[in-house]
Amino acid sequence: MHCGKPLDREEQEYCADCRKKDSYITQGRALWVHSDPVPRAVYRFKYHNRRGYGVVFAREMAGHYEEWIRKCKIDLIVPVPLHPSKKRKRGFNQAEILAKTLSEETGIPVRTDVLFRIRKTKPQKELGPSERKANLKGAFAVSASWKAAGNVLLVDDIYTTGSTAERCAYMLKRAGVQNVWFLTISIGQGI
Ligand SMILES: [Zn+2]
Repeated sequence: MHCGKPLDREEQEYCADCRKKDSYITQGRALWVHSDPVPRAVYRFKYHNRRGYGVVFAREMAGHYEEWIRKCKIDLIVPVPLHPSKKRKRGFNQAEILAKTLSEETGIPVRTDVLFRIRKTKPQKELGPSERKANLKGAFAVSASWKAAGNVLLVDDIYTTGSTAERCAYMLKRAGVQNVWFLTISIGQGI
């Protein structure tokens, strides 16, 4: 299983979406499939300021995937960043809450100052596959003073087509990270 989406046959590594593209991500996992009641809970967490949900989600992620995280030899946890103006508006970055709690649960360090969103982008859910990719060009930057190395676990709330995770992974690898893994609360199927 490459991205974490449930597969028709267990022996398959790539789902239909992953087979279509080259990936900068070594492997990904998600806690749940994005179907009721998961989307409502994630929505409340993000847009109704239920930060406590994030802690619960992250503890669940740690409980479920601690062994996988150890096997991947993760050196550092990095949340998918929000643009500063969006973070100000929402009051917090949901991925940051997940990443920090995961760090507390696993003892693996977290950095929120190495990967940045430097350009405001349209919401990905409003765009088609090729527009999603174009929308993210130049959206992220990696700190020049950071000595990137090793295995990074990228954390976000939802994985749909994976274009955001892929773009972040591309930036991290270009900066010198060896392997990028990712973990999300939920994953959309057949999108
Ligand atoms: Zn896949």
